[in-house]
Amino acid sequence: MTTIADNPTNTAPLANYRSVNPNDGTTTDTFPTLTSAQLEAKIAAADDCFTTWKTTTYAQRAAIIAKAATLMRTNVDDFARLATLEMGKRLSEAQGEVEFSADILDYYATNSEAFLQPVTLHPQAGEGHMEASPFGVLFCVEPWNFPYYQLARVAGPHLMAGNTLVVKHAGCVPQCAIAFEKLLLDAGAPIGAYTNLAISHEQSDDVIDDPRIKGVALTGSVAAGRSIAARAGMNLKKSSMELGGSDAFIVLEDADLQRTIPWAVWGRMYNAGQTCCAAKRFIAVDSIADEFLEKFTAALGELTVGDPMLETTTHGPLSSEAALLQLVDQVQTAVDHGATLLMGGKRIDRPGWFMETTILTDIAPDNPAFRDEFFGPVVSFYRVEDEDEAIALANDSDFGLGGSVFTRDVARAKRVASRVDTGMMFINSIDWSDADLPFGGIKDSGYGRELGDMGIQEFVNWKLVRTHDIDAPN
Ligand code: NAP
Repeated sequence: MTTIADNPTNTAPLANYRSVNPNDGTTTDTFPTLTSAQLEAKIAAADDCFTTWKTTTYAQRAAIIAKAATLMRTNVDDFARLATLEMGKRLSEAQGEVEFSADILDYYATNSEAFLQPVTLHPQAGEGHMEASPFGVLFCVEPWNFPYYQLARVAGPHLMAGNTLVVKHAGCVPQCAIAFEKLLLDAGAPIGAYTNLAISHEQSDDVIDDPRIKGVALTGSVAAGRSIAARAGMNLKKSSMELGGSDAFIVLEDADLQRTIPWAVWGRMYNAGQTCCAAKRFIAVDSIADEFLEKFTAALGELTVGDPMLETTTHGPLSSEAALLQLVDQVQTAVDHGATLLMGGKRIDRPGWFMETTILTDIAPDNPAFRDEFFGPVVSFYRVEDEDEAIALANDSDFGLGGSVFTRDVARAKRVASRVDTGMMFINSIDWSDADLPFGGIKDSGYGRELGDMGIQEFVNWKLVRTHDIDAPN
């Protein structure tokens, strides 16, 4: 295998790390990608750091990770404003994300030692136990939609496990990426424990190939997943993939609509609809479908478009013009293939990357919209005969991230949840993550889990140690 250092001709391309304000389209800053020499130095530092970081105690690591959480909380507004400036989420949502990221860091600072305690085994002969050790340097590739939470999801568990991280963040949130790296350094992490890499996709391949990299974690699109997982597989490196979703929001005939509609609005419109586990396909049983659709349409119509920095705004911009154009195009394609446009569908006539809240109905199985992920404020509405048909439709998807079901009958909801093929199901609430609950999917939504106890296990070697009596027969 070659290392980055063996590949000196790989000079960095022009800067594609830029902060562009989605509210008005102005570029506020640009950042160059690393040269090969700079990248090599950063990988070497991460590898070097691993030799000492892995020998630190859980208490020593926890002090740093918990300090980072405290610093995040102390500076909530600074972190939040940067996220809103770079990717356009509403400021209150950005503040919530910063607080949640701090919670994740605290959760792993507190619980990691317990999660990774040796496990005593009881073999038929002799003694045995399993003990946990870190892999080494991990390469993480992360998306812009939750610019801190996605980083906390990998930094908290994997640093606490004793791994070191090199992280490629999305090109549109370079300042958030730098702020998070600085956060960990300010909290006392040694150089090389957590390193931000502003690199191209080609350089990313070089990083995966480098023998000093021991594991690869991606959160992003299916296309990125195919590319990065293939590269990791070619190098026989373990990977975890948190990819897209097209989660079903099932409304059964006995749902309490008054309380369901706010969840539907929040589930689709949170983060301007740019959430992997957002409710994307709304599936209502026939007897309640008209009333649900009428009330849902009315509630979506009440949202206030505007500057995401303002408290009064309830409908902010998309992250980039490319994302906006792609979404408008997807909606047009859906209509061209026979879908009915019940509401919206266009770019909003104002500066910035704003899209009308959109509702599509009559989406036939041969319509591309039936299978595609809509990453923005677009509702796909389906009417079904009954519960069985709702489950069948929910399962007729290439994705398998999460889903939710609304009914007054919780026992029934649990039976429905068991029959939906996803990594997560939520009853009378939308897909949501918590620090202590495993998050992830199946099918094209990827593999592996982040958060909770499972999240720290992805890049840990559970080694069997067996002690035999030397005189005992085999
Ligand atoms: P994306 O294009 O895949 O970008 C995500 C990250 O991957 C970025 O850092 C991007 O870098 C990088 N990337 C993309 N292709 C790459 C390649 N070939 N080699 C190396 N790096 C590559 O995803 P997106 O469209 O911005 O983000 C939204 C997607 O992420 C949606 O599908 C969403 O559902 C999914 N997502 C999933 C989860 C989950 O937990 N399951 C959470 C959030 C989002 P550049 O920015 O430089 O291109």
